[in-house]
Amino acid sequence: MENQASSTWGDAYHSVRELIKFLGEDPDREGLKETPYRVLKSLKEMLCGYSQDPKDVMKTFEDGACDEMVLVKGINLESLCEHHLLPFIGQAHVAYIPNKRVIGLSKIARLVDIYAKRLQIQERLTVQITKALDDYLKPQGSACVIEAKHLCLSCRGVMKQNAVMVTSSLTGAFRDPEVRSEFLRLIGRE
Ligand SMILES: [Zn+2]
Repeated sequence: MENQASSTWGDAYHSVRELIKFLGEDPDREGLKETPYRVLKSLKEMLCGYSQDPKDVMKTFEDGACDEMVLVKGINLESLCEHHLLPFIGQAHVAYIPNKRVIGLSKIARLVDIYAKRLQIQERLTVQITKALDDYLKPQGSACVIEAKHLCLSCRGVMKQNAVMVTSSLTGAFRDPEVRSEFLRLIGRE
């Protein structure tokens, strides 16, 4: 297993072995022998968004009749903080007001996943989601609120914090106070 993994993953495999040594452990002990392979495999999985293009899921279709707010609430989100390589986990609420074109609701969840499965900061992730909606769907406006717990906050330091970080991005019609307030009310934040 080790030889096979080390030839497939190359330098990265050895780097994780070095990391285990750096942490004061023995990478050859039974429980740790296959850990470098597992670490790289799970990181690859958590960062699979790099090999996916939002344009492939943003298949929109025409529907002139629909001009009310479309909201997908509580999309589960797991991402990896680029500062600490530790997960942040939470939910995204995404909305848009169509301008003749709409998109399948599952596609919005896919879009969130594509950007979440990259090294991220929550602020950028939030903006990337509304930007993609604006670019591909050209709606009257789009909105995204993300609420997430960051393991780099809750697992480190003396002041372990259990805080939830909330970020939002609102474009176009969502900057209108009434629309904004309807959106926030619908996601239970007002
Ligand atoms: Zn962090």
